[in-house]
Amino acid sequence: MSSFTYTGNPARILFGCGSRASLGEEIRRLGHSRALILATPFQKADAEKLAASLGTLAAGVFAQATMHTPVDITMQAVAAFDAARADCVVSLGGGSTIGLGKAIARRNGTDQIVIATTYAGSEVTNILGETDGGIKTTVRGPEILAETVIYDPELTCGLPVAMSVTSGLNAMAHAVEALYATDRNPITSMMALEGLGALRKALPAIVATPDDIAARSQALYGSWLCGSVLGMVSMALHHKLCHTIGGSFDMPHAETHAVLLPHTTAYTEQGATDLLRPVADLFGASSAGTGLYDFAASLGAPLSLASLGFLAADIERASELATLNPYYNPRPVEAEGIRTLIRKAWEGTRPD
Ligand code: NAD
Repeated sequence: MSSFTYTGNPARILFGCGSRASLGEEIRRLGHSRALILATPFQKADAEKLAASLGTLAAGVFAQATMHTPVDITMQAVAAFDAARADCVVSLGGGSTIGLGKAIARRNGTDQIVIATTYAGSEVTNILGETDGGIKTTVRGPEILAETVIYDPELTCGLPVAMSVTSGLNAMAHAVEALYATDRNPITSMMALEGLGALRKALPAIVATPDDIAARSQALYGSWLCGSVLGMVSMALHHKLCHTIGGSFDMPHAETHAVLLPHTTAYTEQGATDLLRPVADLFGASSAGTGLYDFAASLGAPLSLASLGFLAADIERASELATLNPYYNPRPVEAEGIRTLIRKAWEGTRPD
């Protein structure tokens, strides 16, 4: 075996049906007694229910988390934290709520307990993307990482099927890209493949029976592994392209990942055939790109950028932005290839 470097992120994970009941104990274990519960407006009622179940351990609810973590909302949340004399945050939700918790922690160092309810994987990364004046920046740091993550599959049964599918594909994108990351190692690759295998089995079962608790558990297990590798290795073409297209053209996050993944994989595969062979094998396909495309199609996932509202007139600009700063990818990022990739993703045609 060749030499490698492995840097793991510390993680305390409570996994299992009903694990949300351990929240109070977890707040006390961290030495706290007044948690500010964070949520989106959509999950406000769930956050209030959670706060009621905590009794005096809950200092209040702030339910204004929103996509892309705008700094002005974060500053309101920090003020709410101070006004409530909170000593930790509990983020109940997906990447948007978790992003808000991370942004608060970055400013005041608070401990975070996350109860993850989507498959986006943000809860186990030390990455924070925030927007200020329409500009999205990404930072990494130890203070951004949550102290405890609670995965309770029962809380994901209500995640609509369409969102479950795109969120699951978002998680799979973390793992696919980790397989060819320049700083990958045998441990991250093992976790990535285990995560991909779990989601490969779970997502069709969720589409068939949305409240299949065994499938929901398997999907959450897979998303934990996929999110973990996102936090441990650097990303390449796929994540950069999603960042560019999502950030500059205001496209929905998980859906953009879902549409682009087969195309970025097919593009990169030409420079990383052996590394991506296990993904092709997982789907019984001749290539990883076609395997992922057929899998997404079988789940009823959106297949084209056009269906998400991306305009043909923006393909040129998106290609320019995507090739502006050179970065590592096993198949180098070059203008003509990226233009073709984005056009195919816009049309939704099956990659070659
Ligand atoms: P989200 O958090 O925006 O959730 C989408 C909607 O679904 C929200 O209204 C939410 O309240 C609702 N929802 C969440 N869980 C639910 C459930 N179980 N049942 C019913 N409704 C539920 O979506 P997301 O895809 O999880 O997160 C996207 C955001 O996360 C983006 O801003 C993205 O940039 C960020 N993200 C960050 C990282 C990271 O490591 N920093 C990783 C992945 C995603």
